[in-house]
Amino acid sequence: MTKAKEICIFRMEYSKENIVNLLSIEGKEEIEQLRQSAYKTMSEHCGEKVYLRGLVEFSNYCRNDCYYCGIRKSNANVERYHLEQSEIVEAAKWAAEQGYGSFVLQSGERTDPKFIDFVCEVLQKIKIGTKSDKLPDGLGITLCVGEQDFETYQRFFEAGAHRYLLRIETTNQELYSEIHPPEMKFENRLHCLAMLREIGYQVGTGVMIGIPGQTIEDLAQDILFFKEHDIDMIGMGPFINHEDTPMGAGKTNDFKDNKLLFLSLKMIAVARLVLKDVNIAATTALQAISPFGREHGLRYGANVVMPLMTPLEVRKSYQLYDGKPCIDEFGSECAECLAQRIVSTDREIAKNEWGDSRHFINKKKKSK
Ligand code: SAH
Repeated sequence: MTKAKEICIFRMEYSKENIVNLLSIEGKEEIEQLRQSAYKTMSEHCGEKVYLRGLVEFSNYCRNDCYYCGIRKSNANVERYHLEQSEIVEAAKWAAEQGYGSFVLQSGERTDPKFIDFVCEVLQKIKIGTKSDKLPDGLGITLCVGEQDFETYQRFFEAGAHRYLLRIETTNQELYSEIHPPEMKFENRLHCLAMLREIGYQVGTGVMIGIPGQTIEDLAQDILFFKEHDIDMIGMGPFINHEDTPMGAGKTNDFKDNKLLFLSLKMIAVARLVLKDVNIAATTALQAISPFGREHGLRYGANVVMPLMTPLEVRKSYQLYDGKPCIDEFGSECAECLAQRIVSTDREIAKNEWGDSRHFINKKKKSK
């Protein structure tokens, strides 16, 4: 009997061992079985629509020095930028006009009052500026601006953000401390995730896949972590070297054997099987390692895509990793290209819907 025949893909509960087995599948046929099971789980629990979130990377100033990230504060080769409020609000209006129900604001991490006030103001302006008959409450807004304190998270929530993405990066604490400077503590990430939950956000997290030293067991543990922490949204992508970072210096990326792509796709599929009703993004990093990476992600159980809407002039300065795709396309070209890509997977694109995490909605219903 082949290994895959011994593996039961559908289960009520998944142990770490089950997850390790699923992530270890290598045969083409078995991977296809896994993919189909994940897709079926997605369509049963979330439907088949793809939800779009226009993504604006509004600033690359960062106080952190993560050893893997291209916009780390010590990277002097990056030209730093900060968009104007009006540019961000214009992009949000454009996203709303396209029928994207939601918007993501991402930046490097800053905690100074000027930055926090800026974010609050821009959230309020987006909320007001994107209201229409089709979107009576304006765009849904996801924020991704790193570790903040309780009061700040609360202010952002009150200003209009209702989802927050903060990746745990890896749940192997030793590995976490190897890829971050000493002042960045795993416990603080956990604390931040707990605060976000307490305030009432839909909470998103995720990991990088293929970090040097990371094992399949670590990745299995990551999926169990998402479950244990009752996470609503997942954004995961392959780890990619950036030449101006301690981890990427002197290394070149070589994705020809597709190993990292398949590992990333298996992570999406298994996360879908285990977590069922969460939102899972097919991330841009997938496309950086494979021309059809995001489409594959959708086929393996992802239901969210984030079209890049950062203004063209600054896109090249928000390179978290080498080879980031779409850095020289206009927003409208990106939208067109993505729409065609999604249609190629036979999926319908949701229009004028926030596309909240089913998991979050189901939880709310249960607690009533
Ligand atoms: N400051 C924000 C968001 C910026 S980084 C925050 O802390 O959430 C967004 C994500 O990009 C990170 O969480 C990380 O998982 C990913 N990232 C950064 N460098 C990367 C690299 N070299 N390869 C793959 N993903 C990377």
